[in-house]
This record gives sequence, structure tokens and C-alpha cells, in this order.
Amino acid sequence: MIQQPTLFPLKELGHLVEVEANKRRLILASVSLFGFVLLSIYGVAHISIDESRLGSFYVICAAFCAANLVYLYKRTSYAIPLAVLNTTLGGICVVLLYRGMTEGFEPYWLFPVLCISLLINRFAHALASAVLLVALTMAAQMLGGLSLLDTPFAENSGLRLLLSLSSMACIVLVTVYRTERASKLLLELHEEDVHRLAYYDSLTGLANRPSYLRWLGKVLERARNDSHGLAVLYIDLDNFKQINDRYGHREGDRVLVEFGNRLANCVRPQDGATRLYADEDVARLAGDEFVITLHNLREPADAAQVAHRILALFENGFRVDGLTHPISASIGITFSECDKLDAETLLNQADSAMYHAKQTGKNTMSFFSKSIAEAVSERRNIEQALQVALAQDLLHLHYMPIFSSNSLEMVGVEALIRSRHPLLDAAGPERFIPVAEVSGQIRSIDAWVLRQAVGMQSQLRELAAFTGRMSINVSATELHNPELPVTLAACLAEHGVPPEDIEIEITETALIIGDELSLRTLHQIRDTGVSICLDDFGTGYTAFSQLMNYPVSTLKIDRSFVQQIFSGDKTHRKMAGMLKKLAALYELQVIAEGVETAQQLKYLKRIGCDSVQGYFLARPMTAEDLIAHLQRPPGTS
Ligand code: C2E
Ligand code: MG
Ligand code: MG
Repeated sequence: MIQQPTLFPLKELGHLVEVEANKRRLILASVSLFGFVLLSIYGVAHISIDESRLGSFYVICAAFCAANLVYLYKRTSYAIPLAVLNTTLGGICVVLLYRGMTEGFEPYWLFPVLCISLLINRFAHALASAVLLVALTMAAQMLGGLSLLDTPFAENSGLRLLLSLSSMACIVLVTVYRTERASKLLLELHEEDVHRLAYYDSLTGLANRPSYLRWLGKVLERARNDSHGLAVLYIDLDNFKQINDRYGHREGDRVLVEFGNRLANCVRPQDGATRLYADEDVARLAGDEFVITLHNLREPADAAQVAHRILALFENGFRVDGLTHPISASIGITFSECDKLDAETLLNQADSAMYHAKQTGKNTMSFFSKSIAEAVSERRNIEQALQVALAQDLLHLHYMPIFSSNSLEMVGVEALIRSRHPLLDAAGPERFIPVAEVSGQIRSIDAWVLRQAVGMQSQLRELAAFTGRMSINVSATELHNPELPVTLAACLAEHGVPPEDIEIEITETALIIGDELSLRTLHQIRDTGVSICLDDFGTGYTAFSQLMNYPVSTLKIDRSFVQQIFSGDKTHRKMAGMLKKLAALYELQVIAEGVETAQQLKYLKRIGCDSVQGYFLARPMTAEDLIAHLQRPPGTS
């Protein structure tokens, strides 16, 4: 069980320590200023009455005080001004005691000097200077021939002076001692807190990234000649952001603390791990990212066992304080013999494996391998390029015409995303859209495409009297975005485009059966009057009977299917025919995409496909080309 970190009010402590230091500087500055004024006046006064030696001494002391003031103004440390003040005070005492001895005046000035000394010094120094002052006074009294004890008490001014000096010193010293104890305690607390912050995560009490890396480095060093393996498991929570969005950061924090506890309990001594050197074998690296280390493993399967145990924590949702959160974990594992790698590399490998696990569907584990490293690096580059493309407006749309298979008239266009970023241009949407889906960038991309494509549809109607439909691809992950139907309706209203002019394409494979949220969003889209097309149909596993549940009006037969129609295997041809018949039964429109030959077109027309699209008829083109094409009089090409 992880101990909850004590909540040290670090900020307040730091502030108090600062206040304490400032207070001392202020005292020193005030005393220096007071000394400067007083000693300057005394100095000048003594010089003017021909006491030039004493007068000069006072002026020099005043100069020291002035130097102190300058130093305190420019620097934050106060050790040197303190030493200067103590020396000045000591010098004044010696000179005045000597003068008092020779000229016989009463040493009442000793009281303010003692006060100042006790005020400016820390306890140990204050004690020493009080003892020194009392001793000096005693010595001077005796050297001056004044007996402390011989005369009756009432007449013995020397003894009375010493007694009152000593008792005054005692009272002030007790006060100094107490305040000093308090500020020392404060400092100790502060230092402990700074230490905790430097090495431990303040929320979960687990080790933090720097201390984990330092610790792992030490473990690897000690295990240089060990024949056993070591595994690093990098764990990232899936959909954690939704908790923060839905219930606020407090609940998010509670989930993180609870997960930290349960994670630590997942690692048992028999896993060849843990608690061997310290508590750092379970650490929180950042946000919802955790890491655990397992030592003395025989084989990777031992690490997989622990990973399964962690995944099992999320089997029926993650329950905290009566709330069940639909989160899971993606786990990346790297297994290594200890003598091979350094801590940073091991952690990076586990991180890459985790990234891969996330990309391949979340709630799963993945072992690090070289091919994974390459794939991850490519995906990371794409993610960064998408960031740049979004920020610098490097995205644009191409439009692919869709034709009626009977009349070969253009009945619609499909908006397809393109990018001027060289990396994205080379990768194409087939590769960068899935990356955007995992990274969450798809929300901005799809919203941008929606606005752009609806705007284009309005232009096509105005400039080219286009009567066809605009098909817009929307990622299935966006069906979890409750804002989608609202954004769509707002776009239509903004551009004055009737909803019947728009069709939303959702990939069949991405639809999850029984996903209530997606289904609700689809119905909301349908309610706006916009039609829905199931894209890439035939590549997923949607049974025809299930189509009844989806508010779809069009099926788009996948390119791969169409291309295999004449590949020699007759089954595809038959299946295409079957598909069309079934679609007719459910009153669905059918589009075939990827038509590349006249033969394919002829066949698809024969089996009754309503519309076709493919390179044989037209390739995706820019907005300008499409407008120019539509504006051309019929018959010209
Ligand atoms: P999709 O929606 O199935 O789009 C059809 C893809 O097939 C397009 O590729 C198109 O250029 C290609 N295609 C059409 N006819 C032929 C043909 O005859 N031969 C060949 N070889 N290819 C043909 P593209 O533009 O690379 O898009 C790939 C996929 O990326 C799309 O498949 C769609 O799933 C996704 N995508 C494209 N644009 C967007 C978008 O704006 N938003 C989202 N969420 N996804 C998009
Ligand atoms: Mg499509
Ligand atoms: Mg398709």
C-alpha cells in the first residue's frame, strides 16, 4: 500500500523561510542606519570639541554602518553585514570601557549595546557576546579599582550594573532561543519537503521520473553480472481524459491515486521484483503514465503475467468511490538482460511498445521489438507533421466524382483530405488518418473537413448549378463526440446548404456493435436530414440483419471487393451480386468504389449498382478543377 504523501504546505513554508531571512536583513539594515546616523553625529560632535581621536573612531564606525547598508541593498545574504556590526559593537565596547575606566564615567551605554547585540545575533553568538560583554565590564570595573563586593550592596553601583546586565541578557537570550528553535524547525520541514518534491510524485506518493531513472540506473549497475532478466512495463491509461472532462480533475486525481495503489499491489515479490532496493520500482512518470520494473525474471512470459494482472484491474470498469470509469490500460513491455542497456534506453523502448499497444486498439500489452520501434517512430513523425499541418493550414480537399451507373451523370462528389506537408503528402490519408484517430487530432481534422466540404457544396450549387450530393468522410471515433451533430447542423445553416445535399460516410469496420453512444450520434445526424453511408462495406463483419439497427441509407462496396470481381475467382463476382440483392431488400442505395476498368463498370451496372466511382471514370481533383469541369457545357470534356 502506498502511503499517502503528507501534505506539506511547501509554498507557505518556502514563503515563511523567505520572510524570516527578510526580517533579519531588515533588522540589520535598521541597526546599521541607526548606527550610521548616531555615530556620524557623535563623531562630528567629538571632532568639533577637539576630541579628534574618539571622533575619528566614531566616524570610521559610521562608515562601516554605511557600507553595511549598501551591501544589504545590493545582496541578499547578510553574513558579512552581521560580522561587521558585531566587530563595530565590540570595538565601541572596548573603547568606551577603556575611556570609562580612565575618565570614570558611568557605563549606562552598555544596555543599548547589549540589546543591539542580542537583537542582531543568532542564539549561540548572542550568548557568547553577552558573556563577553559582562566579562569585559567586570574586568574594566576591577581594573578601574572598583570593588564588586567590598562595599555595601546599596552603594555598589558596579555590582548592580553587572546584575542588571546579566538578567537583561538572560531574558533576551531566552526569547532569541525560542524564536530560533521555531525557525530552525521551519527550515528542516522546508528541506524535507523540497526533498520529497524532488524525488516523489506529490499526488500518488510514488517515485517520480528523475528518481526512477536514477534508481533504475543503479539497479542495472548492480545487476551487471546477473544472468537474470529485467523487464520495464510502461503503463498508460486509456480514455483517462474523459474522467477529467466528465467529473473534473478532483475525480481524475482520485483515480490516479487509486490506480497507483492497485498497481503497486499487482507487483508481488514472487514476480522477481520488488521492494528489493527501494520503493522506486513503481513510479508515476507523468499524467496518467506509470512504470513498474521487475527484476530476476526467467523469461518474458513472467512480465506478461504481471501485465495481464494489471489489465484485469479494468475488466469491469475501474471503480472508485462508487463510480465506475470505462478506462483501461495500454502496456508496453521491454525485456532485457541487465548488462545490455542503460535506463533511459529501456524506458524509451517500453514507451514505444506502449505507444504501439495504444495504436493497436488499447486495453492491451505489447512487447518491444525493432519493427515496433520503426513503426512507432513513423507514427510519431506523422503525429508531429499533423500538428504542423493543422497549425499552418496545410490541409486541403480533393473531390472525387461519383456517377450514376446508368446515365454516367455526375450525381455526387466525395471530399478526400490532402496535405501540402511533404511527409503527410507521401503517407496519404490511409496512413495519417488512423494516426490522427489515436492521437485525438481527428476531432480538429474532421471539423475542418466538415466546414470546408459544406462550404464547397454551397459554391458548387451557386457557381456550377450542381445538383448532386457531397459525401464527407467522418471518422467513427468522432461518433463519440456529442458535438458532431451540432457542428454539422451549424455548418449547414451557415452555408445555407439543404441537409439532403450531404452524406456522411462512416467506415464499416470501425463501427462497434452495441456501441450505444455511436448509434445515438448516428440517429441525431440522420434526424438533421443528412444521409449516412456505410463506407468500405464488405471489409468488416456487419451482418445484414444488423444493418437494421443503423440509420444508414447507402452502402459503399469496398474497392478491394470491386477489384477482385474479375480476378479469376468467381466468388467475388457472385458476392457482389448478392450484396446488391440484399441491399435492395433493405431498400439501401449501393455505390461501388474503385472502378478501374470498363469490364468492372459493365458488370456493376448489370447487377444494378446505383452509383459508381473510380479511376476509370474520374480521379480525385482540386476544387478549381471540379468547378471548371462542372461549368463546361455538356458534351465537351
Ligand atoms: P475512402 O473513404 O474509402 O475513400 C476512397 C479512397 O479510395 C480514396 O483514397 C480514393 O482516392 C481511393 N480510390 C477511389 N477510387 C479508386 C480507384 O479506382 N483506384 C484506386 N487505386 N483508388 C481509388 P484516399 O483519398 O487515399 O483516402 C483513403 C481513406 O482515407 C478514405 O477511404 C477514408 O477512409 C480516409 N479519408 C480520406 N479523407 C478523409 C477525411 O476527410 N476524413 C476522414 N475521417 N477520413 C478520410
Ligand atoms: Mg469514403
Ligand atoms: Mg471507401
